[in-house]
Amino acid sequence: MSWFFSTIKNIFSGDKKESEFKKDIEKVLYEADISSALVQKLLSSIKKADGFDQTRTIIEQKLLEYLLPFESSFEIKNELCVILLVGVNGVGKTTAAAKLANLLKNKHNKKVMLVGADTFRAAGVDQLEHWSKKIGCEFFSKGSGADPGAVAYESVKKAKQNGVDVLIIDTGGRLHTQVGLMSEITKTQKAVSKAFGKDPDQVLLVIDSTQGQNIKNQVEAFAQSLFIGGVVLTKFDGTAKGGALFGAIELVKKPIFYICNGEKLENISEFKASDFVHKIL
Ligand code: GDP
Repeated sequence: MSWFFSTIKNIFSGDKKESEFKKDIEKVLYEADISSALVQKLLSSIKKADGFDQTRTIIEQKLLEYLLPFESSFEIKNELCVILLVGVNGVGKTTAAAKLANLLKNKHNKKVMLVGADTFRAAGVDQLEHWSKKIGCEFFSKGSGADPGAVAYESVKKAKQNGVDVLIIDTGGRLHTQVGLMSEITKTQKAVSKAFGKDPDQVLLVIDSTQGQNIKNQVEAFAQSLFIGGVVLTKFDGTAKGGALFGAIELVKKPIFYICNGEKLENISEFKASDFVHKIL
């Protein structure tokens, strides 16, 4: 049994007064990093629960109900589909780009091109090129220091010429507090739209599950600068008490398409609310 439910089970096995008992459950919910609004909702829903088993079932059900609206499958249409990955440095964006490319190429038989538009980080571009060789997909970049907008623009043109189905653009790790860098990501998006003749099909925000309350600031900053279509959650394997994610998910108000749980190419899966609840609790 998880840390979460075994602690709750212990509370039930003790000989406590009702008021103490409620306080203890509240404490466990907070220790799991669940937001106070959600803790209050859970507490009111378990008020009439009789014993541990009922309490557990209700908590699981409520969290599932809460997450189900965020479950949505990622649609890839038949013509060129352009995906922009954005997020703060180190969240696992480049790795997520490679994982997504691998999944779409090898599971969905799509012709994929990976683009290294994170030209400030030569190592990131090299890493992506290395992944693309491993995956067996196309790769495009213009060397370190090149204008990210120009890389993005040219990649769309190249993808059209080469009959690519899915173009995945890995952008620079914007520090969301740096206004200049945030405006640059907007420029990159505009460059894509200019070459594509319309907006990118998806702008996906990559979020590191282990970053707790920091996630809130990132989500707010990126949502102000770009139209975020959905989320990729990374490093789910490193989340000990993932309750903070419930709060973060509420903030994003967008579908969570994928979850990454490791450093390997195949460590990516579609977001399923029930799997998420069972893993987190
Ligand atoms: P970026 O700066 O956002 O592009 O981040 P990277 O893709 O370069 O990843 C930063 C570090 O996180 C690397 O050491 C990755 O191997 C690691 N990483 C990425 N995704 C995951 C994941 O799902 N789980 C774990 N444990 N590590 C990951």
